[in-house]
Amino acid sequence: AAIVCSLITSLAIVIARRFLFSHRGIHGEVKSAIKRKEFILHFQLQVDARTGKVVGVEALVRWLHPERGLIYPDVFIPVLEEFGLMTELTELVVEQAAAEFADWTFTERFHLGINFPPDYFLSDKHGQGLISQAKLLKSRGIQLGLEITERQLLDQRAKAAITDLREFGLEVLIDDFGTGQTSLAMLESTPIDYLKIDKCFVDTIGSDSVNTPVLDAIIAMAHGLNLNLIAEGVEHRSQAEYLLARDVTLHQGYLYSKPKPLEQLSQLRQGQA
Ligand code: C2E
Ligand code: CA
Ligand code: CA
Ligand code: CA
Repeated sequence: AAIVCSLITSLAIVIARRFLFSHRGIHGEVKSAIKRKEFILHFQLQVDARTGKVVGVEALVRWLHPERGLIYPDVFIPVLEEFGLMTELTELVVEQAAAEFADWTFTERFHLGINFPPDYFLSDKHGQGLISQAKLLKSRGIQLGLEITERQLLDQRAKAAITDLREFGLEVLIDDFGTGQTSLAMLESTPIDYLKIDKCFVDTIGSDSVNTPVLDAIIAMAHGLNLNLIAEGVEHRSQAEYLLARDVTLHQGYLYSKPKPLEQLSQLRQGQA
């Protein structure tokens, strides 16, 4: 089911990309989008489902195209990847997220998850800037988390960089867990704080899919290894209850909120987290 799910999504994305960018000059267009900072952030709540309390947000980037309007990351990120612009995008996202939370202070630890492409950790640019940004945020109760997909294999240099950043106080989350090929090797060799269970597995709850036992196995393994879990793509009350019954308490999904501009997240209040 996970494979079918990702195949259908990929096909839709390839078609959307063709439709949006059928002309030449796409390279120039994405380059100038970065220069002009045409990217905006939406934030999605992360909730402790036992109490309903908001414990953090994930930052999700969108391209606010001057003519075409809002474009979603599944469509434009592969284009940026192709042209080697993901590190620049990541820097913009970190800068933007920090700016949006510049006036916020939390009395209890509040998590701010940002997606990092594995290539980011290969550039020499990372490091000091990110660490000082994370320290600044932390002084106001905001814990920066690196969400790293396990789609690509992380090489030794990337692992070393991630391990360093973690020692400087950043949290490390493995994103889309269960859909990549390197899960178990990665768990052994890289110190991490959270696994994010991919939506494809949450989708199987309540169906008679062959993947629900896989979900159960991921949960059992994470508990056995003392890893924190976040379930993503929680849309239905029944899914939330299934997860809660198995001690998966941190949830993210449309059941709680869709990603929105920060000022529209009315559930979020300074100092309340
Ligand atoms: P992701 O990191 O797995 O983010 C979760 C995606 O699932 C988001 O899609 C979110 O809107 C969607 N989602 C969350 N809850 C639900 C739900 O209950 N139902 C459904 N149907 N969908 C849900 P989005 O924002 O379109 O982002 C897609 C992917 O693009 C992200 O997947 C992430 O891999 C990537 N991405 C987004 N922002 C950034 C970024 O700033 N940097 C990088 N490198 N990648 C990003
Ligand atoms: Ca993510
Ligand atoms: Ca994810
Ligand atoms: Ca996902």
